[in-house]
Amino acid sequence: MARRTYFDHNATTAARREVVEAMLPFFRERFGNASSIHLFGQENREAVDAARAHVASLVGGEPEEIIFTSGGTESDNLAIRGAARARRRASKADRIVTSAIEHPAVLKTCEDLGRDEGFRVTYVPCDRDGVVRLDELERALSPATALVTVMLANNETGVIQPIREIAALARRHGIPVHTDAVQGAGKIPVDAGDLGVDLLSIAGHKFYGPKGIGALYVRRGTPIEAISTGGSHECGLRPGTENIPGIVGLGEAARISKRELPREMEHIRALRDRLERSVLERVPDVSIAGAGALRVPNTSNMLVGRVEGEAVTLNLSMSGFAVSSGSACASGASEPSYVLLALGFDGAASQGGIRISLGFANTGEEVDAFLEIFPRVVERLRSLSPIR
Ligand SMILES: *Cc1c(COP(=O)(O)O)cnc(C)c1O
Repeated sequence: MARRTYFDHNATTAARREVVEAMLPFFRERFGNASSIHLFGQENREAVDAARAHVASLVGGEPEEIIFTSGGTESDNLAIRGAARARRRASKADRIVTSAIEHPAVLKTCEDLGRDEGFRVTYVPCDRDGVVRLDELERALSPATALVTVMLANNETGVIQPIREIAALARRHGIPVHTDAVQGAGKIPVDAGDLGVDLLSIAGHKFYGPKGIGALYVRRGTPIEAISTGGSHECGLRPGTENIPGIVGLGEAARISKRELPREMEHIRALRDRLERSVLERVPDVSIAGAGALRVPNTSNMLVGRVEGEAVTLNLSMSGFAVSSGSACASGASEPSYVLLALGFDGAASQGGIRISLGFANTGEEVDAFLEIFPRVVERLRSLSPIR
């Protein structure tokens, strides 16, 4: 098979070798239920506690503030539904303030609460660089606000949002703040205390951990209700027998990520910056979404004029390169990206978005090979379909 190069780490990552190794015993001899009081259970309770400490350390919280979930989507659902309902029950506040560029796990959850439970949702716009507008956000806050939820880093553009400032504004009104940090963890330092947020979501598979496991940081004392019913696991907030192999894998991914972050990110940033510079030199009519803002170091969203992002993605795939057009979750349908539209690009420009998201295992040779292929793919597609 021809060589394959993976440039789609914002969609998912391969679990690190050490992560898989750490998990294996928990599928075999260490299969006990952590709630059991016998030795099979108790040794696994210890493993869960150790993983909780690693995850807490990664996000700047205490172990008691970490709730394990099935991933980013569930963490977002638990945070938003759980905290908004709890606050409305206590204070009648029924507004949710979010942004126009959130992941569907947040957007759809807010929509759902609006449609089915009578919450009123405000979608704060972003500026041309993809940064949520603080002035608009501040105007949206009131004593009726039950929750603010804004992502830490956008999955399509990599743009880092001013969460510390947002949390400070919300705190003045005593409003709890959630941040979807799924694209932040493992890419930039994340510290819930420093950010001033009450709730923070992460997902294992976005930072070289296993799929189907994530966590929600819940600051001590934050009012929140469970969204499913059952046993008393995870402080009653997430009932159900723990996914112990996943939890152990998540803990190991967190431990290694924290240790390796500075080195890995320097490597990735150098590759990303060279890739962007070279593409801009070699391919006319390309712009980089969010180029004027702070971004996570691994992400480049290139708007390539006069082509469809999906066609570029498919052609690159035939040459062995995995990138994404629009958001991965929306692919299958050739719709312009709602995130790029929110940045103010028109429908045609938004169709030409190509997201390249690098990982620590990518190399300079892979970037060189990409820079050979990419201009040719774009040129061919432009000559085939002389649109616009
Ligand atoms: C991937 C992603 C999610 C969803 O996480 P899952 O673990 O796939 O459920 C949520 N938010 C953001 C920003 C993401 O990138």
